[in-house]
Amino acid sequence: MKKIGVLTSGGDSPGMNAAIRAVVRKAIYHDVEVYGIKYGYYGLVTGDIEPMGIGSVGDIIHRGGTMLNTARCEEFLTPEGREKGVEMLKEHGIEGVVVIGGDGSFRGAEKLAELGVPTIGVPGTIDNDIPFTDYTIGFDTALNTVIDAIDKIRDTATSHERTYVVEVMGRDAGDIALWSGLADGAETILIPEASYEMEQVVDRLKRGNERGKKHSIIVLAEGVGSGPEVGQRIQDETGFETRVTVLGHIQRGGSPSAYDRVLASRLGAKAVELLLDGESGHMVGIQNNQVTYAGISEALAQAHSIDKTMYELSNQLSI
Ligand code: ADP
Repeated sequence: MKKIGVLTSGGDSPGMNAAIRAVVRKAIYHDVEVYGIKYGYYGLVTGDIEPMGIGSVGDIIHRGGTMLNTARCEEFLTPEGREKGVEMLKEHGIEGVVVIGGDGSFRGAEKLAELGVPTIGVPGTIDNDIPFTDYTIGFDTALNTVIDAIDKIRDTATSHERTYVVEVMGRDAGDIALWSGLADGAETILIPEASYEMEQVVDRLKRGNERGKKHSIIVLAEGVGSGPEVGQRIQDETGFETRVTVLGHIQRGGSPSAYDRVLASRLGAKAVELLLDGESGHMVGIQNNQVTYAGISEALAQAHSIDKTMYELSNQLSI
């Protein structure tokens, strides 16, 4: 293999740049040329493809976002669109592709591999919702962003003796809410993986109040419901002054944490190694701090799950 391509796709995450850098440098180290495919599968289909030298990835390891840009591409969902992508790769002489992205991007990577293009997926998403890897690139940074925000909210919640609902990202996966809630000592954590009754939330708040607790933080994953609606119900049912903060896209940005930079470097390099070993249709991941890999289809067939013991622990620690 003498020429490979790299793209970032779907939602961006901090550390994608560090992963691109690792792919480019690792490939060049092995005398393999690298092409950057801009805007994810959109650039693949339209031929927005450029060579990347060693210097092209200089000074990006600490930057959030992705220098290759990212996009969602409807056309790639069709067989015709994917054929166009394969043709573009042939035109450029690209023999293998590294796809950095979330589960949607991995489904695209799976299809590309089925069409005979050696393809390896690198998990880049803040949601930590990809099976088979303990962590995805960007999760740690997003968590630190959320924790920083909740710490600040806690200061004002304490001063004003208010209840705060903080809505964080996570449509189907509660990892950000669970980890940040545990790290920040939230009184209640609401995640899609665990059903809840508003009555229980209200009882808990009232019990805390009776014990002299003057403020509370409730962390809510967006998949559970809208922060403003949940906040209003809590205020109506408890009578406690309640404020809501929806953190939104700040969770996607920022300089990647040390952990994410190291993870991205290790996973990006492993992806190139696999391509050079003639592998295809795999995703790289980290398990027990060991870099490893598995078939994308096999990994996506598993459902992502949260660590139930962590959820129970958060309940025990916030009595
Ligand atoms: P993420 O990778 O963050 O989960 P998306 O789910 O939006 O993001 O997926 C990103 C892109 O991956 C889509 O816009 C599409 O081009 C491609 N993709 C997603 N699902 C498939 C699929 N089943 N087949 C082919 N391509 C897909």
